[in-house]
Amino acid sequence: MRETTDILISGGGVAGLTAAAAFGAAGFRVVCVDPAPPVIEEADAGADLRTTAFLQPSRRVLEAAGLWTRIAPHGSALRVMRVVDAGGETPEPRIVKDFDAAEIGEEPFGWNFPNWLLRRETVARLAELPNVDFRPGTATRSVLTREGEARVTLSDGAQLSARLLIAADGRASLVREAVGIGVRTMRYGQKALAFAVTHPVPHGNVSTEIHRSGGPFTLVPLPDRGGLPSSAVVWMERGPEALRLAALPVAEFEAALLARSAGLLGPLTLVTRRSVWPIIAQIAERFDAERTALLAEAAHVVPPIGAQGLNMSLADLACLLDLATAAPERLGERAMLSAYNRRRWPEVKARVMGIDLLNRASMLSAQPLRDLRAGMLNALYSMAPVRRTLMKAGLGVR
Ligand SMILES: Cc1cc2nc3c(=O)[nH]c(=O)nc-3n(C[C@H](O)[C@H](O)[C@H](O)COP(=O)(O)OP(=O)(O)OC[C@H]3O[C@@H](n4cnc5c(N)ncnc54)[C@H](O)[C@@H]3O)c2cc1C
Repeated sequence: MRETTDILISGGGVAGLTAAAAFGAAGFRVVCVDPAPPVIEEADAGADLRTTAFLQPSRRVLEAAGLWTRIAPHGSALRVMRVVDAGGETPEPRIVKDFDAAEIGEEPFGWNFPNWLLRRETVARLAELPNVDFRPGTATRSVLTREGEARVTLSDGAQLSARLLIAADGRASLVREAVGIGVRTMRYGQKALAFAVTHPVPHGNVSTEIHRSGGPFTLVPLPDRGGLPSSAVVWMERGPEALRLAALPVAEFEAALLARSAGLLGPLTLVTRRSVWPIIAQIAERFDAERTALLAEAAHVVPPIGAQGLNMSLADLACLLDLATAAPERLGERAMLSAYNRRRWPEVKARVMGIDLLNRASMLSAQPLRDLRAGMLNALYSMAPVRRTLMKAGLGVR
C-alpha cells in the first residue's frame, strides 16, 4: 500500500533537517528519511565537528522554521571578517584588513554554531511538529516520477508518493542521479581539517582568514570553553599535507598550528579530534526535474571560504518555501519548479565560480603570485565602495 505525503525530503543532513522543520512549520505534510541516525553529541564518534556561520539572510528562514530561538543562545556573533596575508618569505602577517559589519548596518555578519548542536536542536524541533515524520535509519532506494507525483521506494520496502521530492541527500545524491541530472565537478587536490581550539587572546567576535599557500586557514569565533576563548578552525591544505597534519602527535600539531596562525591568537590548544574533509566545487546542470527539486550539496558544493556553503542552501530553501507557500495547491508542479531553477541556478553558479577563484588564489605557492595576491587585497580594500559591495555580496544582500 502506497503512503502519500506532500513533501518527501531525501537526506537528513543539516540542510534536509532544516527543510523538514521549515516546510513542517508552514503546514505541509513532510516525510524526511536518512540512512544514518543524527549524531547529536560532540564527543560521540561520527559527530560533525564543523561549525556553520549562518550569515544574516539565513536568519529569516531559521526563524520561519522555529529554529532560531532554540539555537540563538549557543551561537557566537561575527562582527568583523579579518583577512590576513601571510604569504611572504616567512609566515608573518604582512597585510591585515578588517571588513567590519558596522560599515554596512547594525547587525553582525552572522552567527557561528557547531553542526552537531544544529542537528540536536533541529531533531528536537521536528518532534514538536505532528505533520513531520522523520525516519532516521531509512534510505531512499529508487525514484520514479510522473507528471502528478514522485514515487519513491525506501530501504525498508515502504512506497511513498509525494507531490514534491526534495533531494537533500548530499554531494553524491542518489535522487539527482535517478532523475537524470548531471554535475560539473572541479577538483583541487585539497583537503580541509576541521576542529576546535582554545587560545589565550580573546577573538573579540572577529573571524580571521589567513592566506599563505595550500588554501586558507580560518578561525571562527565560538562561545568560551572551560573559561577560555575558543574558535573553530578550518585549515585547508593540499591532500597529502593535510593527511600528514591530521596524523601528527598533538604537541607537534599544536606547534604547526601556532606557526600557521601567525601567532595571532597566541598558542592554540586542540580541544576536539581533527576531522578531514575532501574539497571540491560542484554544480548540478539544473536544480529541477519532474516533481523534484535539488537542494544544498545535492545541487552545489563549494570549498569552505566565506561561509557560503550552507548559506546558499538556506537561500535555496527560502526560495522553495516562498514558492510553495505562495501557491500550496500547485506544490511540485512544473511552473513552480522551473521558477525555482530560474531564480537559484544563475545566482549559485556565480558564487561557485567566485569561490573557485578565491580558492585558487589562496592555494598559490609561487612567491611572485603570492605578492600579486597581497597587492590585490590591498587595492580592493582601500576603495571603500568596493569594500562595502564585497561585504554585501558575501552576505547575499544588495
Ligand atoms: C570543513 C567545512 C566547513 C564548512 N563551514 C561552513 C560554514 O561555516 N558555513 C556554511 O554555510 N557552510 C559551511 N560548510 C558547508 C556545509 O557544511 C555543507 O554545505 C553542509 O553541511 C552540507 O549539508 P547537506 O545537508 O547538503 O549535506 P550532508 O551533510 O552531506 O547531508 C546529506 C545527507 O543525506 C543522507 N543520504 C545520503 N544518501 C541518502 C539516501 N539514499 N537516502 C536518504 N538520505 C541519504 C546522508 O546520510 C546525509 O545525512 C563547510 C564545509 C566544510 C567541508
